[in-house]
Amino acid sequence: MIRDKQRLDQLLATTRQFVRELAMPNEARVEREDRIPDEIVQTMRELGLFGWSIPEAYGGSGLTTEELALANMEISQCSVAYRVRIGINTGVGSESLVQDGTPEQKQRYLPRLASGEFTGALALTEPEAGSDATALQTVARRDASGGYVINGHKRYITLAPIADLITVFARSEEGGRPADSISAFLIERGAAGMTCSAPTPKMGQEGGPIGEVHLRDVRAAADAIIGGVPGKGFRTVMKTLNKQRINLAALAIGPAIRMLDEAVAYANRRRQFGKPIGGFQLVQAMLADCKVEIEAAKALVLETARKRDRGEDVTMDVSMCKLYATEMCGRVADRVVQIFGGQGYVKESGIERFYRDVRAFRIYEGTSQIHQITIGKRLLSDAVARSLETTQ
Ligand SMILES: Cc1cc2nc3c(=O)[nH]c(=O)nc-3n(C[C@H](O)[C@H](O)[C@H](O)COP(=O)(O)OP(=O)(O)OC[C@H]3O[C@@H](n4cnc5c(N)ncnc54)[C@H](O)[C@@H]3O)c2cc1C
Repeated sequence: MIRDKQRLDQLLATTRQFVRELAMPNEARVEREDRIPDEIVQTMRELGLFGWSIPEAYGGSGLTTEELALANMEISQCSVAYRVRIGINTGVGSESLVQDGTPEQKQRYLPRLASGEFTGALALTEPEAGSDATALQTVARRDASGGYVINGHKRYITLAPIADLITVFARSEEGGRPADSISAFLIERGAAGMTCSAPTPKMGQEGGPIGEVHLRDVRAAADAIIGGVPGKGFRTVMKTLNKQRINLAALAIGPAIRMLDEAVAYANRRRQFGKPIGGFQLVQAMLADCKVEIEAAKALVLETARKRDRGEDVTMDVSMCKLYATEMCGRVADRVVQIFGGQGYVKESGIERFYRDVRAFRIYEGTSQIHQITIGKRLLSDAVARSLETTQ
């Protein structure tokens, strides 16, 4: 749903200007220094990028799912690190609070996340709990004061090395289904017993650090649980990820658009056998395959976003978006390296950076295999439900 086209166009134009004039010229620097320079983060704050998805009542822009998808397709046309820097605040770092936070929790944290004063993080994954998140072993035990003492170890947590507010998922309830025993705790940087590691070295996305979170006897008050009700954390994270998968799919489209733009320009520029390589039909085929897949992903993501804005069930659709758009981006990256030839493999062009950066999209927020399973299961169960309806 687009509420005010003129306002949205203005936001998209401002974002495009930031991407072209400030972010792109600094991509190599961000990679080299493995951080977004402070002055660029400050500009991102001033442009309101951190508050895109946060309701206007808390200082954000309150973008609808469709508006956010369009904005995400713009911001992700510069190197991935930039959107990682804002993406936790506009995604998993705030969405749990937006969805299920108490009025006090929203008032306390959402304005600071929206302004970019606070950087958020979401800590679910553990050494023994990846795709099977319900297997998490971090424990929150109730103490005599009615609060909790949390112990555990999280890994691969985006922005943990610099985060001010971490949503930590821990098992607080005994008995029942594993998913019903998990609570989401809001823990601020500096909480006694919580340490965040230095950035974990990784394949790409330099400037968008991930790290470990160690929790040793960390004390949390009962009102640090999102929504104030224990045992609801898994449902909260699933609701959050439901929206986040649309976000991530849109964020996989921007890099594909950028890579294709670069490939088209290169194909017109680079000459072999006496003419531009774009004149060869085998190169044209690679460009065409990229374009068709990008447009297909856009159509799928925007239609799913509209469905979500209409309040329809999009559980299977978000998996289709995440699976298709991230796999599409990987295929585009591979073809574009091919079109660039040796120039695509060396650092100079920046294409190899995109190739490495986008590889993670198929792993986090549900691997491709997990989404295939979700889609397959849903198709089967819907068919059973339909056949039961017709036999009744
Ligand atoms: C750059 C980066 C940033 C991240 N940021 C965050 C973050 O901010 N917060 C957070 O909590 N986590 C984060 N993660 C963790 C991420 O969500 C997990 O890596 C992901 O869920 C997969 O878990 P795993 O790595 O343990 O792999 P595993 O679950 O061990 O999977 C390994 C392989 O087995 C396959 N597999 C597993 N189960 C099945 C199955 N049932 N059927 C078929 N195949 C299966 C997987 O598809 C995969 O191919 C991040 C990871 C990366 C790489």
